[in-house]
Amino acid sequence: MKPAAFAYAKARSLDHAVALLDRDGARVLAGGQSLIATLNMRLSSPSLLVDINAVPGLDGIARRNGTIEIGALVRHVRAERSAEVAAAAPLIARAMPHIGHAAIRNRGTLGGSIAFADPAAELPACLLALDGEVDIAGPAGPRTVKADDFFHGLFETALGPRDVLTAIRVPAATPATRIGFAELARRHGDYAMVGLAAAARADGKTLAAVRLVFFGIGATPVRARNAETALTGGDIDAAIAALARDLDPPDDVQATGAVKKHLAGVLLRRVARQLAEPA
Ligand code: FAD
Repeated sequence: MKPAAFAYAKARSLDHAVALLDRDGARVLAGGQSLIATLNMRLSSPSLLVDINAVPGLDGIARRNGTIEIGALVRHVRAERSAEVAAAAPLIARAMPHIGHAAIRNRGTLGGSIAFADPAAELPACLLALDGEVDIAGPAGPRTVKADDFFHGLFETALGPRDVLTAIRVPAATPATRIGFAELARRHGDYAMVGLAAAARADGKTLAAVRLVFFGIGATPVRARNAETALTGGDIDAAIAALARDLDPPDDVQATGAVKKHLAGVLLRRVARQLAEPA
């Protein structure tokens, strides 16, 4: 299918992008790897695509004040190969190869993935597991939203129709940082049937600040808070049992909710082993 007719504008600055987004039905265009597919399938029909690819200042990777900041326009492939990301955000580095295929990672952007907020996507879960935050430019100026408050529902986020996501930020890893990542997909590169991104801090022989975020299992990335508490106490079996209270996955085209719940336990056991080792 071909998309419905739309207008196109290339934003020269953030202010210009926000001004262009004032038009009803306008949408940001970043890597186009999700948006263009929805246009071609006529799942959406924006009146105007606001191309932000030429907006300066959105493609940096920088460490500052104990954090690593990744600009919205950083392509997946660049983050995947970045020594800085590997050192300061090893969870993101570990998740990257699971995102689609090389051609998609060449064009797709980190900001696009977070803004699109597919519930089966890897990066929203990583951002939440790392207790990260999102920088946004909008008509009322810039603001920052914690990942815990960013994902509202199925493909719904804290972004308004005139907002541009400008960067994400996560605490830089330290020697005490522990991470874990696992996903099950029918073929490598497919969206996950179920996945788990996890982060914690080593505290002597136990773990502190455990964050377990499942994806492919609900309308948003889902924190398994009861399992987090059990794993903080070091009890893997109790953590897996706690998933019965944390997760209520609906059936979907990939698997029934019951199968997904079982697979979540399998992934948690794998990830718990990873969390015991330095990142
Ligand atoms: P676009 O397609 O340009 O935009 C996506 C949406 O986000 C649009 O609504 C757009 O308006 C909005 N948007 C984009 N950037 C911004 C911004 N800075 N501010 C505000 N709004 C913005 N992803 C995965 O995570 N895992 C996978 O396994 C996976 N598999 C894929 C397989 C295929 C075959 C394809 C085509 C895509 C796959 N993707 C997967 C999606 C890919 O990661 C996309 O790159 C990503 O979802 C969107 O990034 P983008 O830059 O292409 O955004």
